[in-house]
Amino acid sequence: MQNFLTKKPFLVAGPCSVETEEQLLDTAKQIAALNRVDALRAGIWKPRTRPGNFEGIGTKGLSWLVQARKETGLKIITEVATAKQVEDALHFELDYVWIGARSTVNPFCVQEIADALKGTKIPVFIKNPVNPDVELWLGAVERIANAGIDKIGLIHRGFSSIGAAEFRNPPLWHIVLEMKKRFPTIPVLIDPSHICGSREFLFDIAQYACNLNYDGMIIESHRNPDQAWSDAKQQVTPARLAEIIDGLTWRKESEDSSEFQNKLTHFRQHIDQIDNELISLLGKRIQISKEIGKLKYEHNITVLQANRWHEIEARLINFGIKKGLSNEFMIKYLEAIHLESIRVQNQD
Ligand code: PEP
Ligand code: MN
Repeated sequence: MQNFLTKKPFLVAGPCSVETEEQLLDTAKQIAALNRVDALRAGIWKPRTRPGNFEGIGTKGLSWLVQARKETGLKIITEVATAKQVEDALHFELDYVWIGARSTVNPFCVQEIADALKGTKIPVFIKNPVNPDVELWLGAVERIANAGIDKIGLIHRGFSSIGAAEFRNPPLWHIVLEMKKRFPTIPVLIDPSHICGSREFLFDIAQYACNLNYDGMIIESHRNPDQAWSDAKQQVTPARLAEIIDGLTWRKESEDSSEFQNKLTHFRQHIDQIDNELISLLGKRIQISKEIGKLKYEHNITVLQANRWHEIEARLINFGIKKGLSNEFMIKYLEAIHLESIRVQNQD
């Protein structure tokens, strides 16, 4: 899977939905005038979680997208979810398509799209599934790749979660890191709009993604966000979009200067040494756990000693926090140690 994007950062912007020809062309012209954006996004067919919301203008919006491309020079991209929609998008020669988060969860749907794409070369972006299941996302990439599409990108739009307060769809960054482990060169775009659900943290989320070496961004921008027919709260004006883009720092992947390389090597050697020490200490700890396991066995005492474990947790979580580690990390770390300790104590 090669990175097919010709520019970094690759910037996609546009309204959540195509509403009218005038709304699309006006917004597209304002975005193109910024001279920063590569492609115009706009939903023609909108998957809404509940019926009764605006479900998209439908196929006639495609000719307006083509008109916007003609007038602005921007590439054009929309979401496809059925074979018919793929056919229509191909007929109008869209530059890219994306598969939406509610489609990625459904292998039947992804396979239908993949079959309709067979024999074509259109680049396809795949949004993460709404639920945090890395296998579904991997499966969607494999299905589209198996259809012969070699230009595939990912869009990180966040994951639905119960009672999410800060974000509409929390980012769960580690799932994207997992995808990058599997496909190291696949390009990834951040979609801060659907992660945030409001305008408030768009910049912070986008900057976080830049720091993680994402390849670009897809962001919702509307000429009059408050009047948008869908996702009104999270869209920004083209003027605000320019501020966001200009404020972002896209980091380089590496630098050859010897000063940077020497400092980095020095820190890394230190880290490697500490990692060795940590693992040998954990090895020593597990040997003692084994001894405790034997003792408990000989005296017919249960392996699990909940009170003792609660004492350890209460003491070490605070200690860890004082040392600069997060509460969440301490919980996960101690849980892993406890499970390993229980495992070895159950061995005899
Ligand atoms: C969108 O991009 O407007 C959209 C519907 O996205 P998602 O599939 O991420 O909800
Ligand atoms: Mn949207």
